[in-house]
Amino acid sequence: MALKPLDIFKFLPKTNCKECGYPTCLAFAMQIAIGKAELSQCPYVSEEAKKQLSAESAPPIKTISVGNKEKINLGGETVLYRHEKTFYNPTGIGVLIKEDMKDEEIEKEIKNIIEFKYERVGVVLKGEFIGIQDTGKGRFVEIVNKCYQTGKNLILITDDYENLKNSLKLSKDVRPIVFSQNITDEIIQLIKEFNVPVVVSGKNLEEIIQKIQKLQNFGISDIILYPENKKIADLFKNLIFIRRGAILKKIKEIGYPVLTIPAFLTDNYLEEGIYAGIFIAKYGSIVLLSKINGEVLYPLLIERLNIFTDPQRPMTTPEGVYEIGKPDENSPVFITTNFSLTYFIVAGEIENSKIPAYLLIQDTEGLSVLTAWAADKFNAETIAALVKKTKIGEKVNKKVLIIPGVVAQIYGELEEELPDWKIILGPREAAHIPVFLKSVEI
Ligand code: SF4
Repeated sequence: MALKPLDIFKFLPKTNCKECGYPTCLAFAMQIAIGKAELSQCPYVSEEAKKQLSAESAPPIKTISVGNKEKINLGGETVLYRHEKTFYNPTGIGVLIKEDMKDEEIEKEIKNIIEFKYERVGVVLKGEFIGIQDTGKGRFVEIVNKCYQTGKNLILITDDYENLKNSLKLSKDVRPIVFSQNITDEIIQLIKEFNVPVVVSGKNLEEIIQKIQKLQNFGISDIILYPENKKIADLFKNLIFIRRGAILKKIKEIGYPVLTIPAFLTDNYLEEGIYAGIFIAKYGSIVLLSKINGEVLYPLLIERLNIFTDPQRPMTTPEGVYEIGKPDENSPVFITTNFSLTYFIVAGEIENSKIPAYLLIQDTEGLSVLTAWAADKFNAETIAALVKKTKIGEKVNKKVLIIPGVVAQIYGELEEELPDWKIILGPREAAHIPVFLKSVEI
């Protein structure tokens, strides 16, 4: 459960030594409480305090880490609604490969889960999981091996001890998730030996809880839930019940991430996509699709991006130099702030002009141009510092820097800061960039 600042403060040394990067212990406690600092930043916290705080601050939904190259966390959520605070760990999206699929279908799905990726607001959006379902055809391990080569996170769906053991041996470094409907004592030993997470399934929550208790007796706590509902309405209710139970009622037994496989609820792929969208919003930790098509995957990735973005922080684009079109040494350089919407609008309008240019993005903590200027985060000094830091001057001969028209106030000062640059005041509205670029002499 989330701790309050004063609960954390009482465990701190109260010397205000500032080594944690904050002016006082109380300021540090406040940052921990809102998830912006970690206890480990204070070198003086006692082991006892660490123990107590980590137990008390553990999220009601357990955080489970999987993967190696594409490591991700599942669960770890603390609120019911994103606007209350934020959702932390995005739903993992993946494809389900059944052993009895044709070779070319398997190859196609593996290729698709690797190749379908999109870049948006500086973030690469892609699926992270491959579930492999054993159907008794004798080639489960071979398929697991193929999927393992992709570096994706794996879910091993099998009740066969030997298949599971051999698959775990070859893929243990990606920390695959084990999904056996019949979790025998032998399989429990394998889970313990390889220290991997396990999916606990059941027709109802009572059955799931009983199985969890058995696993906990064996010291296994990295658990993922899978309610075996056949109807969307029943599964949806269970997902809500699990999240509400864990967060509001503090029922520890169900405080785990949840796996969902919409393909088991419908044969219609578009319907499957809609169900996946529902589970991303509420409250699936993993969604496995029966196949990967761009028209279903892309909207799901965008939905996930939006839902798992901290509502208290504006979306930002990384600071740096962006090439729009194919700029060369005669191209102009635009500058704007890293509020993502600003970046997209300005980049889009430069693209519309068909005149290649460099676009310099300054980190203003996600503030738009005027707000950043008013907050003194986008001024002649900061712009000049970025121009020097990025060495953009080495890429262009004419050194023409176009600044947003709404910050005309900094024009003179910027000329002084960058004496070897020609500063041009751009239009006030990004929409006027194409006309502006055709009329101005660069
Ligand atoms: S490092 Fe620790 S003791 Fe020093 S100010 Fe930060 S919280 Fe307080």
